[in-house]
Amino acid sequence: MLWLKMPARDYDAIVVGASFAGLAVARELRGEVLLLDRNEVGAVQTSACGTPLWVPEALGVAASVLQVHDRLVIRTPTRTVRYDLSAVPFCTFDYRAFCEGLLAQCRVRFLRTSVSGIQDGAVVTAEGRFTAPVIVDCSGWRRALTGGEAGEPARHHSFGLETRTSLRDEGLTFLLDRRLIPQGLGWIFPVGSGSLIGLGSYAGRSKLKPALERLLRDQGTAAGSYHGTYFPNRLLRPTTGGVFAVGDAAGQCLPLTAEGIRPALYFGSECGRIVQRVLDGALTLEAGLEIYRRVVARYRRPYRMLQFGQWMAAHTPTRWFAVVTEIAATQPFLPRWWPRYGWFGHPGLGVPAAT
Ligand SMILES: Cc1cc2nc3c(=O)[nH]c(=O)nc-3n(C[C@H](O)[C@H](O)[C@H](O)COP(=O)(O)OP(=O)(O)OC[C@H]3O[C@@H](n4cnc5c(N)ncnc54)[C@H](O)[C@@H]3O)c2cc1C
Repeated sequence: MLWLKMPARDYDAIVVGASFAGLAVARELRGEVLLLDRNEVGAVQTSACGTPLWVPEALGVAASVLQVHDRLVIRTPTRTVRYDLSAVPFCTFDYRAFCEGLLAQCRVRFLRTSVSGIQDGAVVTAEGRFTAPVIVDCSGWRRALTGGEAGEPARHHSFGLETRTSLRDEGLTFLLDRRLIPQGLGWIFPVGSGSLIGLGSYAGRSKLKPALERLLRDQGTAAGSYHGTYFPNRLLRPTTGGVFAVGDAAGQCLPLTAEGIRPALYFGSECGRIVQRVLDGALTLEAGLEIYRRVVARYRRPYRMLQFGQWMAAHTPTRWFAVVTEIAATQPFLPRWWPRYGWFGHPGLGVPAAT
């Protein structure tokens, strides 16, 4: 194989995966950093790209915003619940512009190549083997460096499939309807000139196309190109064998809401700052790994609560869940929980550490 003939190359740090988690880590790093991805940065969108508006603003990529949303509608067979999001508005953004904006803030060498694993401490790629004292796995649910069976989703993964349509709408919509999808939810995310319409299965069912086509017919619209993938719904190990894992590679996508962008960015920034302290010699690698594990462990309780919410959404009668969501949307409950949820990650995201 080609890589066997090539000499090992040394970097201070190697980051595998150049999407939300990988770019958040990389923008915190100085020194010789190698950023690897099998695709060009921003080329392959997997997500509906819905996140609080403050996220692209804090990261300096507000130009990627396509539409701002200050209301959310949850539609169930028995009732329609409206949430006022104005305390923390959401937005949908352009994936390519967002990722390219973050890449422009990174001082790294980017190499487009597929990573097949780690061997004798070296990252093995189609372009050769690369070594570095610090390695970060940001390769999403596949966990190229820290995962198990290649190509097989681990347990505790949901699956989402979506398509771009010309449907124009004002607000974000979630659909909870067992006739549409038994253990999961649908969504309509307006993106300025149209909408992304999708279905997510908490049970990890990947054959969602017939149901999604039915939903599109109900909405009177037609499919564009489809994209879909697995995403975790349970925290996984944040470090494995001396390698940091961030984002979906560490199971950091939030259960229930399937919001994975913000956790990937938040934990990526935290991890990147810790890695930089290791590179500066202020921490040993072992101490850095331990601190990162502790940062993630602080969030175990909220993840468990969301996991419980996901279980309720999947297993209790939809009309009961609809009552809970309706109560959550009213005074005095909404102002108690929505800002806390909406501002999660806020202090950690922002301009990278000064050089
Ligand atoms: C249909 C759908 C809609 C979603 N909508 C939303 C949403 O609106 N809002 C939200 O917050 N979350 C959403 N999510 C979840 C969100 O997309 C993920 O949680 C988020 O993308 C995780 O970011 P990440 O950087 O950890 O992983 P990813 O975004 O999956 O990035 C992993 C990167 O690693 C690269 N890679 C993988 N394997 C290799 C390899 N072997 N070699 C080299 N490179 C590799 C990939 O090319 C990719 O660039 C959605 C998910 C799906 C499936």
